[in-house]
Amino acid sequence: MRTAVFPGSFDPITLGHVDIINRAMPLFDRLILAIGENSRKKSLFSVEERMEWLRDIYQSEESVEVRSYSGLTIDFCRQCGASFLVRGLRSTLDFEYEKTIAQLNHSLEDGIDTIFLVSEPKYSHISSTIVREILINRGDASPFLHGKVASKIMGALGRQQ
Ligand code: ADP
Repeated sequence: MRTAVFPGSFDPITLGHVDIINRAMPLFDRLILAIGENSRKKSLFSVEERMEWLRDIYQSEESVEVRSYSGLTIDFCRQCGASFLVRGLRSTLDFEYEKTIAQLNHSLEDGIDTIFLVSEPKYSHISSTIVREILINRGDASPFLHGKVASKIMGALGRQQ
């Protein structure tokens, strides 16, 4: 079975993530969406909220699982029996950063390769950071969010659509 882990903060999930997930799904038998719990990185939304939104979007996809993990991503991949990591690339900045992490991960575990999917141009300007900024300032972030969860995400900060 071809298993991949797509790790991220998903704080919150955006249409950019959705694009990468939808394109990764047909490539693997099992795709694990994994929210990394990083005690040094302050998130806007709780892990539970972020997991709920991922599950809401992918509930009818049998090959997709939603999990959270702490510790090294490569250790989580080993636990899951995953041979692939999926990451999205928006720009050369992403590439430079992701290349280093992928090389590091491969040197730690040569049985796990990172597969990069390049963002659709229409999503390449979208980031969770920008979406959080819009939400904190009570703007309308719905153009960047999946329709199934947009109102929940916006409501989570006390704003109604
Ligand atoms: P992290 O904190 O691990 O970077 P993110 O949730 O910000 O987690 O991103 C997870 C992955 O999704 C990364 O590979 C990132 O490059 C990718 N990603 C985020 N936004 C987009 C987008 N708009 N288009 C393509 N890939 C994206």
